[in-house]
Parts: sequence; structure tokens; C-alpha cells
Amino acid sequence: MISENRSNQIQKKLLLWFQKNGRHHLPWRKSFSAYEVLVSEFMLQQTTVKTIIPRFQKWMELFPSIETLADASEERVLSAWQGLGYYARARRLHALSKIVQEKYAGVLPNNLEKLLALPGIGPYSANAILAFAFDQPVEVLDTNIIRILVRLNNIRERIDTKRGRSLLQEAARSLRPVEKGRSFTSALMDLGATICKALDPQCKSCPLSSECTAEDPLTLPYQEPRLAVIKKSEQRAFYYRKNKVYLERSEGPHWRGLWILPRSSTPQDSSTMTASLLYPITRYRVTMELYSLRGPIPPSLHPFAEEELKSIAIPSPHRRALNLLLKKDHSSEKTPKKNSLWNK
Ligand code: SF4
Repeated sequence: MISENRSNQIQKKLLLWFQKNGRHHLPWRKSFSAYEVLVSEFMLQQTTVKTIIPRFQKWMELFPSIETLADASEERVLSAWQGLGYYARARRLHALSKIVQEKYAGVLPNNLEKLLALPGIGPYSANAILAFAFDQPVEVLDTNIIRILVRLNNIRERIDTKRGRSLLQEAARSLRPVEKGRSFTSALMDLGATICKALDPQCKSCPLSSECTAEDPLTLPYQEPRLAVIKKSEQRAFYYRKNKVYLERSEGPHWRGLWILPRSSTPQDSSTMTASLLYPITRYRVTMELYSLRGPIPPSLHPFAEEELKSIAIPSPHRRALNLLLKKDHSSEKTPKKNSLWNK
């Protein structure tokens, strides 16, 4: 699909552009240590670079090596993962660190087969680790890179079809360099993130414009229409007594093992709602209705002093809800008694 000559031209231009314009400041690109690359790859699954940067830095302070991560408790790991969502990733990363510590003396293997046998590592992550940590010239097909390959080659097939996938793989193979896997993959990703953007391709500033055959880049890649977003609501109970908040440990399917506000055991009248907030999860957009309840506290709930809330693992929507409720409660304390929100 891409002739050798064209492929060489693209690689040369791309690497030149990357030297000056790459995102060299990303914290996981400072040393490209295998552990840092591994953590960044786990965090980057379904989370944006901007969200990750401060959390990645904090993570490295808490768990600077595979060994420290393997030795940490699950509670501590989940707590450090807060704000990144999809907590199953944190659990898998933790499980992986224990295996690497025990089986490979803390050194991540640089071999595709061994990487694929580890928890949480699929073909994409394995290739990304081989490229970034071990500088191997492998094909890494993330969303940004797929978009560039499709546009460069004007692939007008849907890439979730057999033919589309095969054209994409052919394009990736013919562009793969024989060395500098790390710089080449980073360059493609950065070009996709900053120039060949999904909704705003900057073709005039693109170093590959003379090599690109895209006829109408904005329409590429062709995609399956998105699934419709489903709206739903849930009622959560807030029990607050003597400066303690009562939470339950989630048993899943979302946020298993994390502390959350319990569901209200009986339907509440929405006119008595204390507060509400919206949050997205998978294809749902959920309205969380919050009710301060006065009745007896279910025995399955666990009390936490306000200071303790900072150090336990609470998923973002529930932490937002707690902040909102506690703020309301504290402001009501300063106003006359008739505005008091709950019985303490
Ligand atoms: S020329 Fe435009 S469509 Fe082609 S790779 Fe560059 S930014 Fe993307």
C-alpha cells in the first residue's frame, strides 16, 4: 500500500517534526523506564492525558517501583487510583506487579508472549510497552495512529469490517520502521493528538501533507454510529450523625471494593431531595438524587469521620456527592435552626 520510498519519506518527515514538536514533557517519557511506561499505559486506557499527568506523578511518589506496588495493600492502590475511573485496571495492575515481582524479580519482560500472559495486558498494551519501554519497532494501533493511517491512505472502508481491518494492518506494516520504534510511535501519537485531530485536522501545518492522500479527512475513519446515551436516575441515602458519614462497600458491578453512598432502601419523594448531580458511566448518563435520611442506620454501613474520607477509596461521582452534601450541611449549621438539613 505504501511504497518503500514513500514510507521512508513519511518516517523521515515525521521524526524531524517530532524532534521539535513532540510532547517530550509528558512525565512518563522522561526516562521511559519499563515501570513508568507500564503504569502510563494502564492509566491511559479510556482516560485523557490531561487527567493522567498529576495522578501519574502522585502515583510514582507513592509507588516508585514494581516492588513497592506489589507490597502495597489493595485499599491503598484503589485509593491512589481515584479520579481515573474503571478501577478494574488498578486491580489488574496490582495483580500484575505481584506476578512480575515473584516471577521476573521485578523486571518487566521485553517479550510479546510473556507480556500477553500478564493480567490487564492485551495486544495493544503489549506492543505499546515493547515500543516505548524497549524501543522495538512494532505496530501500535491506538486511536490517534489508526486515524493517521486511515487518512494518509484514504482508506474509505469501515475499520471494524474484515476488509477495513486488513487494509489498516497492511498500512501499518508498510510504514513500520526497522528501528527507533519508540520515537516513531511517539511521533505518530503526537501528530494524531495535536495536528491530525479527529474533528479538526490541521492539514496546512501537517508535516505529512505532501504524502497524504485523504480526500475528505474529517469524514475518516468511517465509523459505526455511536450507541445512543441512555438516561437513568438513582436514589442515594446520606446518613450523617455526630460528624460521621455512613458508607457501604460496593459489591459491583461498578466500583467493586470502593466506598459509596448506599442506595435508598425505600423510594423517596423527589420533593424531599437534598441535592443531585449528573455523572456518565459507560453508555448511561445518571442523575444521582441525594436524600438525607433520619431513620435508623442500616447495620451494613460503616461510619467514617470526615477526616478519614480523604484516605479511603471513593469513586469520583460519590466523592463529588459527599463534598456537596457536607458543604450544604456545614453551611446550614451557620444559619438558623429551621434550615438544618439533617438530624444529628
Ligand atoms: S494532511 Fe491532514 S489528514 Fe493528512 S495526515 Fe496530515 S493532518 Fe491528517
